[in-house]
Amino acid sequence: MAAGPVHERLAALELVDHHCHGAVTDDLDRAGFESLLTEGEAWPGMSPFDSPVGVAVRRHCAPLLNLPRHTPPDVYLARRADLGAAEVNRRFLRAAGTGVFCVDTGYAPHRVTGPAELARAADATAYEVVRLEGIAEAVAADGVEPDAYARAFRTAAWEAVRRPGVVGVKSVAAYRTGLDLDPARPSPAEVTAAASRWLARGGRLDEPVLVRHLLWTAVDLGRPLQLHTGFGDGDIRLHRADPALLTDWLRLIAGTIPVLLLHCWPYQRRAAYLSAVFERVYLDVGLALHHVGPARAGAVLAEALEITPFRKLLYSSDAYGAAEFHHLGALAFRQGLADLLQERLDADELSLPDALRLARWAGRDNARRVYRLPGGLLDDG
Ligand SMILES: [Zn+2]
Repeated sequence: MAAGPVHERLAALELVDHHCHGAVTDDLDRAGFESLLTEGEAWPGMSPFDSPVGVAVRRHCAPLLNLPRHTPPDVYLARRADLGAAEVNRRFLRAAGTGVFCVDTGYAPHRVTGPAELARAADATAYEVVRLEGIAEAVAADGVEPDAYARAFRTAAWEAVRRPGVVGVKSVAAYRTGLDLDPARPSPAEVTAAASRWLARGGRLDEPVLVRHLLWTAVDLGRPLQLHTGFGDGDIRLHRADPALLTDWLRLIAGTIPVLLLHCWPYQRRAAYLSAVFERVYLDVGLALHHVGPARAGAVLAEALEITPFRKLLYSSDAYGAAEFHHLGALAFRQGLADLLQERLDADELSLPDALRLARWAGRDNARRVYRLPGGLLDDG
């Protein structure tokens, strides 16, 4: 599609990436890099490069390593290794054109950049999003008694959100129990009984009553809550990560905290519906953007935008590990959104000022407003 004013404005817009992770700081061998390309596993005889995200990396990321477009994987990886992780990360993070990263620090099976390190490499600003399950698991590891669990978790969560630079919290309930939970706030007796079961058993927080308690604690904290929904790593049960399963809970908490439905694919239309009927519900289609690649990002965004109010869509990359994804997510978002807005302009379904406003809101200002980031209250037009 011919680049018009919407493409130019979106290309120049400093994005707010409201949910991402760090980039791996160690050099990656082929197996290590390929494992980051897939949410599943690298199976024998089948390279993760031979997938939509794999060809998007070869097409759109190779030029930033001074390689031709569509470079073969071996050449790409050899060049990546020559440059070293620090230089590769710097190139992709800067190319993303992202001014602000909100970094989920609760998932790091590799050694990855923390928010400050990411900000330095990207020449940007970074804030932190705290994962509540990690706080609960740290409380358990400290050896708390079941009847003291609720208070200890609440205290630790409050301490975490008061740390400088923390702008929100996150839950991975979708992974642990699924989102088809009893929506009601559990009673103190229920929480103590569940805590004694979980503390005796140990392991990850996957006790449904305690996951409910965690979500209600998030409401009490009063901070924006990011919720993983839709696809993700191979240990998710996709049908239980459908954001529509949150409907009754969202009704109960209406008027309290902002809830940000992350990723959503393939349920972006259901998430869009929730954002259209609940005042404080927002969504993004991060992660899907780089997995479908720039070629299909517009289609996913178009479905999300069928009914999403324009102040409810945010940008995220959900990049983890490979800095390619911090760049590719941004690129796919800009290109996909610009293509679909241009199409509506050409059909006279949208005016240019409206298209530019929508782009600015989704790419930057909606996140500034929800997280109360600097500029968020001033730059609202
Ligand atoms: Zn994430």
